[in-house]
Amino acid sequence: MVHSQPGLERLHVLDERGGRKYVYPADVRGRYTRVRPWLFLLLIAFYIALPWISVGGHPAVFLDIAARRFFLFGRTFNAQDFYLVFFLLTGVGFSLIVLASLLGRAWCGWACPQTVFVEGIYRRIERLVEGPAAHRQALAHGPLTLEKLGRKALKHALYLVITFVLAHLFLAYFVSADKLLRMLADGPRAHFGTFLWGLGLTIVLYWNFFWFREQLCLIVCPYGRLQSVMQDPDTINIGYDHRRGEPRGKLKATGVGDCVDCRRCVAVCPTGIDIRNGLQMECVGCAACIDACDEIMGKVKRPPGLIRYESERVLNGEPRHFLRPRMYLYTALGAIGLLASIILWARHLPFEANVLHGRGTAYVLDGDLVRNQVIVHLLNKNAGPSVLSIEPVPPGSGAPPLEFIIPQARVSLGSLEGLAVPVLIALPRTAYHPGMKAQLRVQDSASQSVRLLEVPLSGPNLRSAAARP
Ligand code: SF4
Ligand code: SF4
Repeated sequence: MVHSQPGLERLHVLDERGGRKYVYPADVRGRYTRVRPWLFLLLIAFYIALPWISVGGHPAVFLDIAARRFFLFGRTFNAQDFYLVFFLLTGVGFSLIVLASLLGRAWCGWACPQTVFVEGIYRRIERLVEGPAAHRQALAHGPLTLEKLGRKALKHALYLVITFVLAHLFLAYFVSADKLLRMLADGPRAHFGTFLWGLGLTIVLYWNFFWFREQLCLIVCPYGRLQSVMQDPDTINIGYDHRRGEPRGKLKATGVGDCVDCRRCVAVCPTGIDIRNGLQMECVGCAACIDACDEIMGKVKRPPGLIRYESERVLNGEPRHFLRPRMYLYTALGAIGLLASIILWARHLPFEANVLHGRGTAYVLDGDLVRNQVIVHLLNKNAGPSVLSIEPVPPGSGAPPLEFIIPQARVSLGSLEGLAVPVLIALPRTAYHPGMKAQLRVQDSASQSVRLLEVPLSGPNLRSAAARP
C-alpha cells in the first residue's frame, strides 16, 4: 500500500493544496483491537436506545425543544430549569478535562460517538464491501471498472440506508420515539417539516461518516483542539519509546534499536500519522499502532510495548508523576460542578409553584378587613398527571388571624400542564403592619413533595398614618 511519509509540517490528511486526502488504514489485530468492536457495539446500542427506553412513562432522554420541555431519566424539566444544565455541563466538562489530563484522548479513541460510529459501523462496511486497505486504495485510484462501480454503489447504498435509519433514530431524541413511529406511519406529507429535518440530518451524517471522518476530530471538535492545554508531560498517552526504538533500522542491521522501520504503525493509523515523530494533535488515541507494533515485535521476537500507553516523562527516562497541581485543580472543579448538579438535581421538585400578584391594586379595603388577592401559578413537571393541592399554613400563636379563600384548593394537572389559581387572604385592617407575610403549603400527590410559599401582604400603614401630625 502506498503511503506518503507523514511529517509534522502539515496535517497528513491534507495535500499540498489543502485538499482532502482520504486515509485507508490497514487492518490490525491485537488486544485493544479485540476489545473495541464489543465496546463500540455496547455504546452504539446505548446511544441509540436512550430515547426508546421508558423511565416513569417518558423516554429516558427526550429533548422537546419545540415545547421547551426536557425529559431526562424520569425527571421533567422546562426552560426555567436550564440553570441545572449549566452545573451538569460544568461537571461533565471538567470530568472530561480530568480524563484528558490523566489519559489523554481516551474519550476520543474509545467512546466519542464520532469514533464509535465510524469505526463500529462505517469502516466495517467499507472493509466488508471493498476488502482490505490496499484493495480499497487501489480501487479508489484505479480506472472505473464494473467491479469498482458495483462495490462503490453497494457501499454507498448501505451507507445511505444505515445513515437514514440512524438519522431517524437520532430524531427520536427530539420528537420522542412514540411520535417518531406515528410520523413514519403517517408518511412524509403529514409531517413535511420533520421529514426535511430527517433528510437534512441523513445528508449531514452521511457526509460526515463517509467523507469528513477524522477531520471532525482534527478541525472541528473543541475538545480535540484543547488537548494540548489540558495535557502535560505526565499525561498517559499513546507514545513511542524512542530510547528503545532508535536508531531505527532493518532487522539484521547492527547498532540499531528495536524499531525495524516496518511502518506498520503508520499503515494502521486512521489519521495517517507516524507516532514515532512524537505525540501529535492528529492522534485520536485509538491504540491501533500499539497492536500493530506489538504484532511486529512478536514476529521479530522482541518484547512488546515499543509503542504503548505511557507518559512523555517516563518515555524520556524520568520518574513518573501521577498527582500534580493541575490534577488537583481539575478534579476539584469537576467535583464542585458534579456535586452542585447532584444536589440541585436531588432537590429539584417535580412541580412549580410561584406567587404572582393579581391585577389592579395590591389590596382592597372591605369594611374592617384588608383583602389581598394573589395568583399561585402551578405547573406539574411530573412525567404523568398529578394533583396539586394548596392549603394555608395557620399563623403562629400571637399572630393576627388570617382568612384564606382558595376556590381551587386541589387541581389535577397533566404532565407539564400549568394553572393560575387565585387566592384571597383577608385580615383585620387594624392587625395589618408592613412586612407581614402569609404562608401557603403546596403538595404534589405524585411525588408527595411539598413546597412552602411566602405571600407578602399589602395593606394601609395605619401606624405611620396615626403617627403623622
Ligand atoms: S498514532 Fe496510533 S493511537 Fe494515534 S491515531 Fe494513529 S494509530 Fe491511533
Ligand atoms: S510498527 Fe513498531 S517496529 Fe514497525 S515502524 Fe512502527 S514502531 Fe517501528
